[in-house]
Amino acid sequence: MSQGHLLTPGPTPLPPQVREALGRQIIHHRTAEYRAIFKRVISGMQQVMRTSQSVVALTSSGTGAMEAAVVNLLSPGDKAIVLLGGKFAERWQKLCQVYGMKVVLVNVAYGDAVDPAAVDKALRENPDAKVVFGTLCETSTGVVHDIEAVAAITRKSQAVLVIDAISGLAADLCETDAWGVDVVVTGSQKGLMLPPGLAFMSVSQRAWTLVDQSKTPKFYFDLKLSRKSLEQDDTPFTSAVSLIIAQEEAVKLLLDLGMPEVFRRSAIMAQAARASMQALGLTLFAKRPSNGVTSVNAPSGMDAKKLTKIMWDKHKVMVAGGQGEMEGKIFRIAHMGYILPEDLIAGIAAVESALAELGHSFTHGAGLKAAKPMLDQLSAEAVRR
Ligand SMILES: *Cc1c(COP(=O)(O)O)cnc(C)c1O
Repeated sequence: MSQGHLLTPGPTPLPPQVREALGRQIIHHRTAEYRAIFKRVISGMQQVMRTSQSVVALTSSGTGAMEAAVVNLLSPGDKAIVLLGGKFAERWQKLCQVYGMKVVLVNVAYGDAVDPAAVDKALRENPDAKVVFGTLCETSTGVVHDIEAVAAITRKSQAVLVIDAISGLAADLCETDAWGVDVVVTGSQKGLMLPPGLAFMSVSQRAWTLVDQSKTPKFYFDLKLSRKSLEQDDTPFTSAVSLIIAQEEAVKLLLDLGMPEVFRRSAIMAQAARASMQALGLTLFAKRPSNGVTSVNAPSGMDAKKLTKIMWDKHKVMVAGGQGEMEGKIFRIAHMGYILPEDLIAGIAAVESALAELGHSFTHGAGLKAAKPMLDQLSAEAVRR
């Protein structure tokens, strides 16, 4: 297998402790042993998600938890406000439309962050809106939205706030309880350092009230079943045993570092990524850049797809390209989860090399030089290898 350096916003590299756990013999899920593990994972996830509310585990990729939020909180015909600004936020819109909810859109251009005043206006104009759907890190643009401000505004209304933190969790700060975010959804393959396949969602009391009222048909993603099982430290259907066992290792890595340190490290990685790209004469796409992923404009006239292809073919560095209308125009370097300073250094070196090959003029080595003082701050031993 050609592993190389995976600097994509999911999946992200797996720490050795997680890989070891994934290789263990399976155990049965309806046992005291498994329930004890499950309980520790849920309580660890509460700390990672900065909440004392219930945390539900689902066997699906992150989108499954998004779908669960829509079908459990709303009924067909209910009104929801969707905060747009990228490909993933548009998924909220699609999900709501598929299930027959009425959608009010608050839009911003790709690369911009949602304006809290526009959320306030939408809530005033739509006092019957039951849910506001937003995104912490919009992975397609690299923007981190101001969820603290959005939450402060939403809290004054009837509506429940649901945030897609699938790529943002454990990279961009998300103070779920302190800010008053009712539901946070996330997936396992980004900041949580696991393979794809698990999703988690925190659910506040206010959100559970909506769950109890929802008439949307559902079966596998019925959160009332999850809530009942959770009382027994259990899941309604066969648990993703190996992933949950590995999740315990990943949660331990995060909590051993401590969440403030996790956020500090991702902020430094992001600063290094941004400084290095700017030192190469490139500009950033995101007006409010995330700590988990850096989106970079390709030099004018250069196809970003050519750049990313050279990076993989010649240097075994995988970054993400642009999605939708950003295809060919931007590339995205992730630095979340177990993406380490040395991966970022390899990534920056590969960008320099590919830019040179494509005829962009810049000072060779300037990217690495700009990143170095920041990355030097991150002591290698803080994350056990
Ligand atoms: C990755 C991602 C998703 C999709 O998650 P899947 O695990 O692919 O279903 C949704 N939203 C955001 C912000 C993401 O980064």
